[in-house]
Amino acid sequence: MTVRLDPAVEQALAARMRFCRDLGLTELYRRPVDAALLEKFAQTAQAESSRNIASVASVPASTERESPREAPAAPFPLHQESAIPPRKPIAAQPEIAAPVDPADRVAALRAIRDDIGDCTRCALHKGRNKIVFADGSPNARLLFVGEGPGADEDKQGLPFVGRAGQLLNNMIAAMGLKREEVYIANVVKCRPPGNRTPEPDEANTCSPFLFRQIDVVRPEVIVALGATAATYLLGQRQPLAGLRGRIHGFRNSKLIVTYHPAFLLRDPRQKKEAWADLQIAMRELGLKPPAKGGE
Ligand code: SF4
Repeated sequence: MTVRLDPAVEQALAARMRFCRDLGLTELYRRPVDAALLEKFAQTAQAESSRNIASVASVPASTERESPREAPAAPFPLHQESAIPPRKPIAAQPEIAAPVDPADRVAALRAIRDDIGDCTRCALHKGRNKIVFADGSPNARLLFVGEGPGADEDKQGLPFVGRAGQLLNNMIAAMGLKREEVYIANVVKCRPPGNRTPEPDEANTCSPFLFRQIDVVRPEVIVALGATAATYLLGQRQPLAGLRGRIHGFRNSKLIVTYHPAFLLRDPRQKKEAWADLQIAMRELGLKPPAKGGE
């Protein structure tokens, strides 16, 4: 039987889960409930409750006050430990493809898009409106990778066009670049229902297309936005704190990990930290922030 939580509790729980996810605490799981154990518990509790009513009715009030009834021993342990589900593996990454001449990159990216077609390779196709392939320059020196499309992206077929996208645009401008000069893509190309984190089988199915895009663009620097992007690019699960603030080698590029803009909208105090991460990327690219005054 499905038990609905109070909507306020449900919302608070969802916000907490998003917060954990943004921090890279992705290994949360619900311990499976043993249906037989639950049934036995319900029967025992009912029998116990009937016995209590009968015994309260037959005991004089004074006796009850002087010698309060001890709680009956639990018939079986209520917190029975069940096995923790094993971690779902992250798929091995494909070989790095041969370099593509800058003049041929548009065609090479179009070929990847054609291969995706009207994709039904994973369950995410069921709820999508549009496949969100990517946006930006095929010759970009800097490439951003997010987790997956949200509602606005799903409507428009472009990555990072909602509120989080506006913040990403601001971050790009603060680096002294224009959005058209960078390349932006996601781990999965279809919107996960309710903006949940993509399941490992969904991310594993879709990410080979991302690796092919990366191999065509060959950016000098990649910025992984959030824990999901970092996990599937680096092929390891680690809290974000352990991955930020340094340069990782990734295929032919340098990879830097920072917070997802959606997380920064929820917790703007972390913007300073994100800016410190972006400055590492700027150093690697030899970029200086634009002078104040808008030149
Ligand atoms: S998320 Fe990727 S693999 Fe899944 S249906 Fe969409 S395009 Fe295909």
